[in-house]
Amino acid sequence: DIKEITNTLVVVLTVERVKVMVKPVVAIVGRPNVGKSTIFNRIVGERISIVEDIPGVTRDRIYSSGDWLTHEFNIIDTGGIDIGDEPFLEQIRQQAEIAIDEADVIIFLTNGREGVTAADEEVAKILYKSKKPVVLAVNKIDNPDMRDQIYDFYALGFGEPFPISGSHGLGLGDMLDEVAKSFPQSNGDDYADDMIKFSLIGRPNVGKSSLVNALLGEERVIVSDIAGTTRDAIDSIYTYHGQQYVIIDTAGMRKKGKVYESTEKYSVLRALRAIERSDVVLVVLNAEEGIIEQDKKIAGYAHEAGRAVIIVVNKWDAIEKDEKTMNIFEQKIRDNFQYLDYAPIVFLSAKTKKRVLNLLPKINTVSENHALRVQTTVLNDVIMDAVAMNPTPTDNGRRLKIFYTTQVAVKPPTFVVFVNEPELMHFSYERFLENRIRDAFGFEGTPIKIFARERK
Ligand code: GDP
Ligand code: GDP
Repeated sequence: DIKEITNTLVVVLTVERVKVMVKPVVAIVGRPNVGKSTIFNRIVGERISIVEDIPGVTRDRIYSSGDWLTHEFNIIDTGGIDIGDEPFLEQIRQQAEIAIDEADVIIFLTNGREGVTAADEEVAKILYKSKKPVVLAVNKIDNPDMRDQIYDFYALGFGEPFPISGSHGLGLGDMLDEVAKSFPQSNGDDYADDMIKFSLIGRPNVGKSSLVNALLGEERVIVSDIAGTTRDAIDSIYTYHGQQYVIIDTAGMRKKGKVYESTEKYSVLRALRAIERSDVVLVVLNAEEGIIEQDKKIAGYAHEAGRAVIIVVNKWDAIEKDEKTMNIFEQKIRDNFQYLDYAPIVFLSAKTKKRVLNLLPKINTVSENHALRVQTTVLNDVIMDAVAMNPTPTDNGRRLKIFYTTQVAVKPPTFVVFVNEPELMHFSYERFLENRIRDAFGFEGTPIKIFARERK
């Protein structure tokens, strides 16, 4: 029995004070039809997204993760950010500005078949003004004979143009090598490792700002200006019972007054960047309005990013309740957010401040669980017990054999199971192992990742 083992061993679980891995951001800019979305899809590849698996949720394909060799990054297709009724040039200009605001490295995409156009020059002018590294790529160079067409593009002033072909997948490696050279070395901010970073996400009017204010009161200390906080999110530091928190405020970020700030895709992008920097994400719902599709989409992103999650039901003061209301709402949440079954739910009111302070101990708990490392011997005992209880799956007479399990990372806890044949590890069995690990060690509030690898 694992409970007994836990009690007899001195150290079974340790909390590791490390930072979440913040991936660098790459943005693709360029006028329409140069091939931005083609390149984006090439780089992103066929990623299976849990968000896409949820019925009724269509993924915004403007932001995704990608990798090249050992580099992992996030990538934005700025062409997918539709900026209302603005004239053509104004749209391109604003997309370039979004790239400058959001990205660590910019891919400036042009079309080798059309040569340098006035719109390309317009984009170039905006990119000059930023200090962000720019890699110039000339697309639609589908065969080597066409390489001469890249020389005109030196005139744009971004050095050597990289000939590529999105349709044929040519030249992307060299281009991405150049992009990766400019990735920042640091992890984005200088906060101490033991500070807990959290953000509040949710659609407009659920009460995110009110909740931040309820927590911070007059103590609000805005630290956006401190060295290292390159993004213009509004960060506040808050101390409660000796624990320091960094609140990454997405709601406050709206007020910059740029036209594109009001577009929905842009606010999603902003929320994603805040999630990326957080240890813990509070998914805020509005008790008055219930759960709608947009809530599910937002929550799906928090899950996919591998951050700890707490579901907060705000405006609990505003609804009529009896003793069953909370259970009914909880059940609705569990039905709608099945992939977030590990996330605790807190019902509160930012307005009356009722139970607002319950949030902080919960944040501490899920943040510790997110950073938890399990002792290997105990982990393997748990897995062996699990296998004894529920035999491994078979396929065509071959049975999955589990040799050894080890935790390879925290934030989120990530386990590698060494097996005879990884294909034999079915999703349902993986899920079973996850549940056994959760039964043994807790892990409330944090996703867990499990990978099957062939034993060499
Ligand atoms: P965006 O508007 O910049 O996102 O451009 P798209 O990715 O939608 O591409 C515009 C058109 O160019 C589409 O018809 C693509 O199939 C085509 N295209 C994209 N990349 C290439 C390429 O490398 N070679 C050729 N010949 N056509 C391409
Ligand atoms: P945000 O857009 O998510 O930042 O939401 P706000 O914090 O701006 O709140 C939107 C509206 O909801 C405002 O009118 C708030 O006064 C109201 N509100 C926020 N929290 C509560 C709450 O706990 N109870 C009630 N009744 N109203 C709230």
